[in-house]
Amino acid sequence: MEQAAAGHLASLGGETMGTRWSVRLSARPGADLHALHVTIQQALDQVVAQMSTWDPGSDISRYRNAPAGSWLRLPREFACVLDCAIEVARRSDGAFDPTLGPLVDLWGFGSAGTPRRVPALDAIDDARARSGWSRLQRRDGGRELLQPGGLQLDLSAIAKGFGADLVATHLRGRGIEAALVEVGGEIRGYGRKADGEPWRVLVESAAEEDASVDELPPRVLCLDDAAVATSGDRWHRFEQDGRRYAHTIDPRTGVPVSDAAASVTVVAADAMHADAWATALTVMGASAGLEFARTHGLAARFVVRAGARLRESMTDAFQSHLAA
Ligand code: ADP
Ligand code: MG
Repeated sequence: MEQAAAGHLASLGGETMGTRWSVRLSARPGADLHALHVTIQQALDQVVAQMSTWDPGSDISRYRNAPAGSWLRLPREFACVLDCAIEVARRSDGAFDPTLGPLVDLWGFGSAGTPRRVPALDAIDDARARSGWSRLQRRDGGRELLQPGGLQLDLSAIAKGFGADLVATHLRGRGIEAALVEVGGEIRGYGRKADGEPWRVLVESAAEEDASVDELPPRVLCLDDAAVATSGDRWHRFEQDGRRYAHTIDPRTGVPVSDAAASVTVVAADAMHADAWATALTVMGASAGLEFARTHGLAARFVVRAGARLRESMTDAFQSHLAA
């Protein structure tokens, strides 16, 4: 049995959702780290079993294949994520939209195995016609969801954040007083380390290819019972005819966001909201997104490419989370 030493910060890690998870936690002497590892992996496996479009047996896949007019009973976690997704869709005026499955597949970023290239215009129109969060109808306090026919959910922009929150909840339930949980770059921290200090995390700035340009000053966040998520076009994108297509789609056009910010980072009370808002603000773009974040009190930071340089801008709410 792996055991934690006194006052020790234990590190655990594994794989989930096509990416990695890692957890740092302050463990009591003798804590069974193997059992904690199992707890964490099971929580994340549960998110995948419910919300992965890559798993044909998941609840989200069952919803896609359900006949028109049928109501599907949602597991509690799924209903919670959908609730937040709809809230952010409404508040962002549809910049975030959990029903973009057909468009995500069409552009080659989904589980359908479609090649990543610019599709025909009528195919975009067709996929747009099959999307739209206002078509979502729920009943029984959000626990049942209607399949009106052809609707396809995609929760990839929020599920990693939720996964980090769920792991934090499970660790708390197992008596772990402080932990920093990361799932594919989305991070949730709670409690304070043995020295009484809150968790600190370095904020990502930009894609690796930009490493040669002038570096921005390192930004360190204090996560005192808070979460941070970053959206960026680092991994999932393609280029065609000199244009860059990121995996975040603008629901208003059905086309990937052009001139996407190099990164958008959001701090929120939980990682689920931070994750969803990072995507919503990416769709709005640096100038409208920053304005929106300011008026809505969101803690957000944008990094944009300006020629060969990077430029950052942040809201006061974001600034207040920076380590002194
Ligand atoms: P990032 O890795 O940049 O943080 P996320 O993983 O949070 O981005 O979300 C990107 C994924 O979200 C896409 O691969 C797609 O499945 C889905 N998606 C794309 N555009 C939107 C949108 N406008 N609203 C909600 N989900 C989206
Ligand atoms: Mg996101």
